[in-house]
Amino acid sequence: MNYFSVRMRADSAGQHISGAERIVREYEVPAVCAALSERALTHPKGMAENTFITVEALAESDILHVPAVGVKVEAVQSPSQARDIIEELLRPMTAHSQVVIEETFSARNMRGAMLIAADAGTRCEPDARRGVRVSHMDACGASEEEFKGKDAAREAIVLASKVAAHPDVLAEVCVSDDPAYTTGYVCIDGTYHRLPHIKEPGSDEGARAFIIKPGADVEALIDYLENRAVLVDFEAEK
Ligand code: AMP
Repeated sequence: MNYFSVRMRADSAGQHISGAERIVREYEVPAVCAALSERALTHPKGMAENTFITVEALAESDILHVPAVGVKVEAVQSPSQARDIIEELLRPMTAHSQVVIEETFSARNMRGAMLIAADAGTRCEPDARRGVRVSHMDACGASEEEFKGKDAAREAIVLASKVAAHPDVLAEVCVSDDPAYTTGYVCIDGTYHRLPHIKEPGSDEGARAFIIKPGADVEALIDYLENRAVLVDFEAEK
């Protein structure tokens, strides 16, 4: 039986509001489309004026399976402590951890992620305003109970697992730009370090950054992130 990629993006007056990616069986497509359109209409950033939903058949043989990253919750009390932990986690990978932190916290309303070279600390994605949008991914073998009502946590672990599975990605930093969601993460060496209180409630700051290996083939990496269909295996974890 075939799978379908279901993708949603929504905007208002040219500003990105919401986006989501699923890979589901045929019988799940109508319900997933309904849930994603509702999400765009009820988003904390405001009701989206335009919602685009794309449904695309995938052959099972086109899908790559990757393991889910492990999750570790860090004891964080404040945004400044969160920044210290991010710095500490990134230090072994790059001398430019402060640049990564500044870029990630100062960006607004990006649709995708920044690519930052570990050796130079410079951005390498072709469109710095938009970034690179990771797409075509979902969870496999995760029980609905496990993630009930926790779309943000589930989607972040799925995205981080797809990203971490590429050999040219050394680390990821994520600060949600949702003013109501103040938990972020750093994913490094196969572990997703969850960081509560990464920013003050009500703040619209936030973006994602992928720190990439010196000499990485950026074009091939972007093609993997945007187009390769990936199911993240949660069974392998248990
Ligand atoms: P969110 O966790 O959805 O609040 O997103 C936080 C930030 O991550 C956004 O501002 C975007 O910059 C980035 N982002 C969200 N979704 C994706 C995605 N699918 N691929 C790459 N970056 C994303």
